[in-house]
Amino acid sequence: MNQDRPAWLHGASAECDVLPKPPAVITRLVLLGPPGVGKGTQAALLHDRLGACHLSTGDVFRNAGSRPDGGQTPAIREALAYMRRGELVPDATVLETVRERRACLHCRGGFILDGFPRTVVQAESLQRLLDQERLQLTAVINYDLPEAAIVERLAGRRTCSQCKAVYHLTERPPELAGRCDLCQGALFQREDDEPESIRVRLETYKQSTAPLIDFYRKLNLLILVPASGTADEIYVRTMSALSVRPLRS
Ligand code: AMP
Repeated sequence: MNQDRPAWLHGASAECDVLPKPPAVITRLVLLGPPGVGKGTQAALLHDRLGACHLSTGDVFRNAGSRPDGGQTPAIREALAYMRRGELVPDATVLETVRERRACLHCRGGFILDGFPRTVVQAESLQRLLDQERLQLTAVINYDLPEAAIVERLAGRRTCSQCKAVYHLTERPPELAGRCDLCQGALFQREDDEPESIRVRLETYKQSTAPLIDFYRKLNLLILVPASGTADEIYVRTMSALSVRPLRS
């Protein structure tokens, strides 16, 4: 599990692909939707089921931020300041971060992009990068949830400091309070899940990221999935939406 994490999180000249055997179908997905809708949880479930690598730009920035201050580049320090305020990191920094890790796009089972792209400029750059790498997206899944439910999810979210597994205080509590079920790492609340950052992030989503729904609809890649209910219910909905769509690889 999480075999893709080291290369993606640390920058990839490292090998991303250690699957013993490639899965029968290669799946390359973008997960869209407002913050807190459950993209990270779904990406982890899809990763387990499909053998596709889970690539999250938010995790890359958080991981870089957890390094000692002296180990951070100026670009990363700048990115972390945007993140803390709930604002988007500038496109140029995000795109450079992804380009450095382009080898991860060739994971044998495919990839699940979670939190990238987030602007039309990023989506256009991703299309160019995929063309250069001769890769095609299988589908783009847009998760949808009313705003009140999103705020509730974000406020109760807790993340494992080691393996990045995501929990929720009431909807998906860990067996032992404050500890990850998978690796026993300490759970923490993200700084950008504080109320003021949540407000900014939702506003930023509406302005910058929601236009991607139309962008991908025009490319005939969009699948809409309601994100109400438990993680398992959303997952089942996702898989059935994918199964009625002919997979391109
Ligand atoms: P996430 O974990 O995807 O919610 O991302 C957390 C934060 O990281 C966001 O609120 C942004 O500040 C930053 N971030 C992550 N991915 C991107 C992206 N593709 N474009 C701009 N900022 C991003």
